[in-house]
This record gives sequence, structure tokens and C-alpha cells, in this order.
Amino acid sequence: MARKPRAPHVGFVSLGCPKAASDAEQILTRLRAEGYEISGSYDGADLVVVNTCGFIDAAVEESLDAIGEALAENGKVIVTGCLGAKGTVVQDTHPSVLAVTGPHALQEVMDAVHAHLPPQHDPFVDLVPAQGIRLTPDHYAYLKISEGCNHRCSFCIIPSLRGDLVSRPIGDVLKEAETLADAGVRELLIISQDTSAYGVDVRYRTGFVGGKPVKTRLYELCKELGELGMWVRLHYVYPYPSVDDLLPLMAEGRLLPYLDVPFQHASPRILKAMKRPGDVDKVLDRIAAWRKAVPDLTIRSTFITGFPGETESEFNELLDFLDAAQLDRVGAFAYSPVEGAAANALSGALPEEVREERKMRLMRHQEDISTQRLEAKIGRILTVLVDDIDEEGAIARSEGDAPDIDGLVYITDGHDLEIGEFVEVTVTDCDVHDLYAELGTERRPAVL
Ligand code: SF4
Repeated sequence: MARKPRAPHVGFVSLGCPKAASDAEQILTRLRAEGYEISGSYDGADLVVVNTCGFIDAAVEESLDAIGEALAENGKVIVTGCLGAKGTVVQDTHPSVLAVTGPHALQEVMDAVHAHLPPQHDPFVDLVPAQGIRLTPDHYAYLKISEGCNHRCSFCIIPSLRGDLVSRPIGDVLKEAETLADAGVRELLIISQDTSAYGVDVRYRTGFVGGKPVKTRLYELCKELGELGMWVRLHYVYPYPSVDDLLPLMAEGRLLPYLDVPFQHASPRILKAMKRPGDVDKVLDRIAAWRKAVPDLTIRSTFITGFPGETESEFNELLDFLDAAQLDRVGAFAYSPVEGAAANALSGALPEEVREERKMRLMRHQEDISTQRLEAKIGRILTVLVDDIDEEGAIARSEGDAPDIDGLVYITDGHDLEIGEFVEVTVTDCDVHDLYAELGTERRPAVL
């Protein structure tokens, strides 16, 4: 019998945000579908694809280093991702790369792979799981609903890298979600550059889901996703008034009571300079109304400190906002003058020490607020999703904890639980980020 030739092997290095990870999953799925093997080492790979990030200068450095390492270790390298869209920086630094594409360029990456490493497809042997190849654990998955962004926040270059908003057809998104549910996924993390804008570009066109007409709009999407028996968590929700419509879905338990809303600042002047919506009183009213509708709502946000021209009193407005808003989770970034961002032309650039010192001050200020909000959960029974088991028990997350960015729930007597299991626990303690909990004598599987 003729021996089957060795399948071509591709190494894959993926850097950057969940949106880049989602691009990576699509490329890996196509590679496997076409009969390529994914190599876990540079040695075993016939070529390497490096999926880069170009958001801030540190990410550019990291990406260029990763390309350099892949070239040194393997020699045949294709570059994709956000850094590929930033002029000729990749080619200037590493002229020997085989090809460079921008982000969300599945076909271009595949064309480059075909040109340098032709496929050997055997349709009887090369099977790809229906849910595709995922980089996350089996029980949760990112679901990208659109690409690009119609905003022009002055600190951000994503629209110039990824273009204007393009929403995926609602039928495709829901089909992918169903496939993931069938594959055992228990939690969907909805991502995009601007989740609340889903469907704006197609004027909320009516699509078809299993023959049923459904509008391409976030509310309808969430309503349908809420039927699939999974946790559905929304990320990158721009604070439009339409977000209010989602709260009833949370109150009904179709959508996790969780909103990741990047407010970025609270001073009206700075928000205007950032080209972000700037009515802080309205935002506070909206947060109060959201909490009234869904008392257990977890709100996560991110802020930028040391934006050009930010005065000490404008920074204090931001701290006052944190006191008033009582957000659950906060991330902060010191302003970074990303090459190509409009904000770099603003006057009043602040020294790095000031930007960093304000970031530290903001995080210290928020610590007490976050801790108090977690303390209020002590004694309560919460549903959690188990992520891992180790010798100290189970490591899980509650409805208020997104993977990687929020806290964890440590279940001290959870050794016998299973990864991907929903269970009810009683919260016994907390620190600034995490909760500690017990199953107690009676194991209570949670019903979604
Ligand atoms: S909404 Fe987000 S992706 Fe769009 S321009 Fe602003 S920061 Fe960038």
C-alpha cells in the first residue's frame, strides 16, 4: 500500500486581543480543513504564520520580536494581523518574511500559505470538528459579530487598521453560535470593536435564521442567543441609549447581567478631545437605571489616564466619577501615543511619569470600590462555571467574571467538580479581585 505523504505542517503564533484570537481561529480552521497539520514547534513546521498586534508601541515591539524569533528558528514566515496594516514596518524590520497581510485577511493568508506550502488534501482523513478550531478551552468561546468601527476616537487607530463597521449576517452568527453550543460550549463571549453598533452598517437589515426573519440588531441577536442555553456575555459595548433595551433580557436571564462598557474618561472636555460621548450626568443616570432594572448587574470599564492636556482637576473628575458610578471592575491604561493616532497632534502631552502615576492612583482609588462590591456578595449563593481544578479545589467564574480580565471564584471544596460544569456555591470571603466559596454538604448543580 502506498504510504500517505507527510501532511504539510504550519506553526502558528498568535498575539493580541480576543479579536485577533478570533481571526487566528478562522485561519487555523481553514488550515486544518485543507489538510495542513498545526505544528507545536518551530522545528516541526514547514512554515510559520505570526498573527500580530499593532495597537500600542509595546505590542508592536512584541510582534516584531515574535517575527524575528520565528525567522531565526524556522526561516519561512508569513505575517498577518494589525501590525501588517501599519505601512511597511514589518518588511522594513524583517525583509525576509514571505508575505504580510493586515487583520481579518483569511483569504490572503491562505493564498500566501498555498504559494509557499501547497496543500495535500485527503478528504477522507482530514476531518475538522464542525465548530472549527478554537484557542479557548472547550467550555467557552469568543463569537465575533462584526469587524471595524464607525467611530473615530482620537487615541485609536483601529478604524484605519480594520476599516469601517461591517456586521456579519445574523444568520451566520447564530449558526456559528448553535454549532458552538452543540460542541459543548457553555459560555459565549460576544466581541467586536463596537458591539452596540451591530447592524448599523446594514440598517438593521432583516436576515433569516432557520427560515425565520430576524433583524440584524444587537437586541434581536441577544434574544436569539439567549435561547441556546449558554451564558452570553457582552464585551465592548459603546454607551449608546439602545443598550437600555438589553436590560430586560438580562432580567429575564437570557443574557448575563454583565456589561463591558469602555467609558475611557469622565471629564467632558477630555471626552470631547477623545471624540467620545461626553455627558457624564447622563451616563450616571443610565448606570442608576440599569442597576434598578438589574440589581446584580456587573459593570466593567476601562479608562485612559494622562490623555494630552489632562489637568490634575480633570483627572480628579475621573476619580469623582468612579466614586459616583461604583463600577465593579476597572482597567486603566496610561495614554500611549500610538503612531498615527489623531490625539498625538493635541497640545499638552504629559510626561510618561505623570501618565503612569495617574494610572496607579486611579487603580488604587478603585480598589476599595471593587472590594466593597465583592464584599457585598459574601454569604450569597451564586451560580459559577468551573474553569479548572487543582490541588486546592476548583477555579471558577461567576456571572460577573469574564475570562482573563476579571476575577475568579476559588471553590475550596470543589475538587470533584468538572471543568465546564455549572454549580451553585456559597461565597465565604473575597479580596480585591476574587471570591472564595464553598459547595457545602449538598452539591447543587445549577440550572440555566
Ligand atoms: S470605538 Fe473603539 S475601536 Fe472604535 S475608534 Fe473608538 S476606541 Fe477605536
